[in-house]
Amino acid sequence: MLAADEIAHRLGEVRERIARAAQRSSRSTDAICLILASKTQPADAVRAAYEAGARHFGENYVREAADKRAELADLRDATWHLIGHLQTNKTRLATRTFAIIQTVDSARLADAIAHAHPTPPMRVLIEVNLGGEPDKSGVGAGDAESLIEAARAKVEIIGLMTIPPHAESATGARNYFAKLRRLRDRLAARSGLALSELSMGMTEDFEVAIEEGATMVRVGRAIFGERPK
Ligand SMILES: *Cc1c(COP(=O)(O)O)cnc(C)c1O
Repeated sequence: MLAADEIAHRLGEVRERIARAAQRSSRSTDAICLILASKTQPADAVRAAYEAGARHFGENYVREAADKRAELADLRDATWHLIGHLQTNKTRLATRTFAIIQTVDSARLADAIAHAHPTPPMRVLIEVNLGGEPDKSGVGAGDAESLIEAARAKVEIIGLMTIPPHAESATGARNYFAKLRRLRDRLAARSGLALSELSMGMTEDFEVAIEEGATMVRVGRAIFGERPK
């Protein structure tokens, strides 16, 4: 892992880039939640980021996250987001480990979450597979509305999340982010739900995502360095 002061320094740089992107698009920096994607990073790296002011962490694997949270139980005001695919058999542990599940992509999964965590309803985002890529999780854009209708009574749907197809250029990424925002606007109008959260943008493209309306960016390597293999 990187040294604690290096993590703090990189966190400061990312925060500045977020502030500049927000300013360029006449948005308030406070409207953008920085989530540190900490998969495969040791608990000490998360702790270093926390001590430098980070409060939101995103993990991909339920078991790894549960173990890390146990090691970091003293960080009481940290918020943990599940940003990786959730298998139904891990749902119970996931609802105990995370405050927000960003990767709901089927009615079956929403059912399992509600069964494990009926009250208060779990806060979730709907993961959208914008490129329709068969090897990626996420609901197709065309099926998002029926998923929202099936899941809205069971979980608290606060927005949409996406990992867009790899784009060669910033413009390519921008088109996907704009697409998610327009989809959100349409779904919010049709469902009457606010769907205020748009979780999009990672190390390579978080500034473009902010310009297109991201309210949550998930940044790993820019803060923690390359992930251990
Ligand atoms: C790993 C990961 C990120 C962060 O990716 P970086 O390129 O390291 O910033 C964001 N979102 C998800 C879902 C991830 O799995």
